[in-house]
Amino acid sequence: MSKRVKVLTAAAALAALVIAGSLLSSRLWGEKQSKANLSGPLVYSQGMTAAEFAAANDLPLEVVTASFGSREGGFPYYDMKALPPDGLRASVERELALYNEAASKNWLKIILKFVMWAAFLLVVFPLLRRGLVKGALRNWLYFAGVLIFGVALGADPSPMGTVKDAVVLYGQSGAIFPPRLKALGIFLLLVVLANKFICSWGCQLGVLQDLYFRLGQAAGLKRWRLPFTFTNTVRVLFFVALALGAMMGSDIIAPVDPFKIYSPLALTIWGAGFVTLLLAASLFLYRPWCHLLCPFGLVGWLAEKISVYKVKVDYAKCTACGACEQACPSTVMGAILKRDRVIPDCFSCGDCLAACPAGAVSFSAGRRQRPPADKFKKS
Ligand code: SF4
Ligand code: SF4
Repeated sequence: MSKRVKVLTAAAALAALVIAGSLLSSRLWGEKQSKANLSGPLVYSQGMTAAEFAAANDLPLEVVTASFGSREGGFPYYDMKALPPDGLRASVERELALYNEAASKNWLKIILKFVMWAAFLLVVFPLLRRGLVKGALRNWLYFAGVLIFGVALGADPSPMGTVKDAVVLYGQSGAIFPPRLKALGIFLLLVVLANKFICSWGCQLGVLQDLYFRLGQAAGLKRWRLPFTFTNTVRVLFFVALALGAMMGSDIIAPVDPFKIYSPLALTIWGAGFVTLLLAASLFLYRPWCHLLCPFGLVGWLAEKISVYKVKVDYAKCTACGACEQACPSTVMGAILKRDRVIPDCFSCGDCLAACPAGAVSFSAGRRQRPPADKFKKS
């Protein structure tokens, strides 16, 4: 069997492992579903108690008390004679959305995932700093990330979900789910601390795409590098479409959400087709979802601008051989090396560190230097 066939067989086996393992773990964790809906007009009458209002509308009592609690006088003093109060339906819908968000979460799994993220990133960070993340070790780390953060701990939460679900929930109901904001804050803090480190090593879809890219390279497939102006324009437009869709009551990512590969029973036929296409594209293209479509990819790229730890070049050691630029799976190392005005996303993969024969590339704190004016001029 040729090397290419072997590697592509491994890619198919990886997909099968992810789907079968995720089916098993979803069953073990037990999938939680949203509980309550508001259909039809609100049912109310004068003198109704909150409990009666809740029962008449098939709503959880806590949704009703929260909806009335924010009104003048507060529940239970709110005067039901004044019904229908302005905006009551909107506030019931908002509280219902928050209730369903909380009810759909498995808090034990979420806490465990954050603990595992902290532990895993603390292991990878010093390895990356020392330039030891390369070759088989890198692939095993990605594989471990796929198994832990995806197969074992599922599609939710994810860095992408914190942005996407926040935009959708706010657009659809005007609600902000506080635990999600905290999670987003933690993810952005990690980006600020160490350049998209959570995407690099903790995002369940990010590591899966990365692993596929490494398999494609091992099979000798051609590497495509799309210009950042193109990928980022697509990503911005997609973000705008997501926000507009949310304001019109829909979630444009949900039908094709590739994170659902870790929740296979939730995959639609379109979703299955899309994730297959995405993983096939990942064999040639570095992290296509991250660069072209991911809402957190876009937000994280902005936050990356103030990252403390990042890839830097020591121009006193650099021999301008271009090995780091060549080794980088995307266009970012070329931009870092030459200090372009716009630096694309860096996924802290460590390829550039491992490739530099002069030890001039580091993953370290502080500002990036500017190259001497004639550093990259051909003699
Ligand atoms: S940019 Fe990529 S790695 Fe980061 S959250 Fe999005 S899918 Fe995950
Ligand atoms: S090889 Fe590219 S993506 Fe990887 S750490 Fe270096 S600059 Fe970032």
